[in-house]
Amino acid sequence: MVSPATSRLLPSVILFALTLALTVGGILARPIESLSLFWPVNAVLAGVLLRNPRLASPRGFALVYLAMVLADLACGSGWQASLWFNLCNLGAIATIWYLMARLPRLHRRLRTPHGTLCLFGACAGGAMVAASLACVMATPWFEQSLRATWLAWFSEQFSTSVLVLPVLLTAPSPRALTRGGSQPIRVAPLLVLLASLSLSIAFGGPGAIAFPIAALLWCALSYSPFLVSLLTLTAGSTLIIAVAQNLMHFSVPQSELGVTTLMSARLGIAMLVLGPLVLVCVSSANRSLMARLAHQATVDHLTGALTRSAFTRRANSLLECRQQDAGQMPLTLMMLDIDHFKAINDRYGHAVGDQVLRQFAVTLQDQLHEGELLARLGGEEFAIVVPGLVPQQAGFTAERLRRAVQDLQIAHADQHLQITVSIGLAGCVDESPAPSLDALLAEADQALYRAKAHGRNRIELAGPQRQVV
Ligand code: GH3
Ligand code: MG
Ligand code: MG
Repeated sequence: MVSPATSRLLPSVILFALTLALTVGGILARPIESLSLFWPVNAVLAGVLLRNPRLASPRGFALVYLAMVLADLACGSGWQASLWFNLCNLGAIATIWYLMARLPRLHRRLRTPHGTLCLFGACAGGAMVAASLACVMATPWFEQSLRATWLAWFSEQFSTSVLVLPVLLTAPSPRALTRGGSQPIRVAPLLVLLASLSLSIAFGGPGAIAFPIAALLWCALSYSPFLVSLLTLTAGSTLIIAVAQNLMHFSVPQSELGVTTLMSARLGIAMLVLGPLVLVCVSSANRSLMARLAHQATVDHLTGALTRSAFTRRANSLLECRQQDAGQMPLTLMMLDIDHFKAINDRYGHAVGDQVLRQFAVTLQDQLHEGELLARLGGEEFAIVVPGLVPQQAGFTAERLRRAVQDLQIAHADQHLQITVSIGLAGCVDESPAPSLDALLAEADQALYRAKAHGRNRIELAGPQRQVV
């Protein structure tokens, strides 16, 4: 068993070890030419602190700083350089965290276009603080002018944060991952993205940086925010590396401001990914809204049964199948109505009435087999379609339902409420053309009316086989 003290210490230990590992990894990767272009440690740590608010305490920031300094010293830096440079890094991390942490969760997790725009502002803020601190405190270690130093730090920190942070902020939680239910991924947008990135490099020139925009927008319309963030990270860093290696065959003379080709390209690429990141927020919010609306149109929110319109669609398609089957498949429709339900509402209140409706529907659903449709037509009136059974056979199903409802004990305060149900049955009994759904509903309704008139808590069949089950 983990003691409370250990469980309090563990997150801090993990944060310390993670910072140590990231910083050492970042320093060791520097000799690799393409990786020396990036310092993603600040963005990753800002993302970790934003995703785990409990870690973002003064102690957490102090641990991050200590681990960065120790990692730097262990890799051979002098203690003064380690202290100053990591203060610049800490400045970037704290600024991004400070600007993002105060946003509502939906914005912070980039579920809204507003959140994505704020992230760009926070990354710019973090990069400005890091660049300014570098100019103030770390000047002795730079050979370039102050302005060139500021621009180099700003463009690197801004572009790296804009590419890396969305991945951390949109990453699904372990709980969401185990929930599963992921859909198959369409590969076409991904292939077009790869093709347009290759074309960018093959074609070259400053304009080629924008070639992947169309593919990234298509990805934004097709994939989840997390996948799009991974793709913008991949596409953005590929372009930055290609520009730095002069694979895209363009370089502009250094401007009077000290802006180099790489700085300009970095900033351009960072702004380029803004469009797809905003679009994926809008399109995923739109997709989940559509899914919610479709669910609301199909499933009754109180009882979980089908809504009348969804029931009509599905029952009609069953009747059409029967028609195509030359009327071979029997089918029964039941209408069910809770007896004296109004008295329950009047006596115990509407909320208890709702609870009764919910439990009534669950009881029915438990008794039904796959393929049998349960719908709430309105109020306390339900319908069931039983494919494959003529009404006489379905009468046994109806009797099972009637008994299950009669045996149902609904706990309320310190007593148990009981209800009964009346059921009317109608169906397609021979190979004659199926009656329309409306005609079947009307017949079942008449049978239900008779069940009520004959004393309730009973079952009646429509048509010539009118015997009571
Ligand atoms: P009978 O045995 O003849 O069916 O009598 P009854 O009281 O069940 O029938 P009646 O049609 O007179 O009453 C149905 C009641 O159902 C009236 C209405 O207030 C109630 N009702 C309709 N929809 C809801 C709902 O969503 N929740 C609750 N709690 N009550 C509802
Ligand atoms: Mg009723
Ligand atoms: Mg009724």
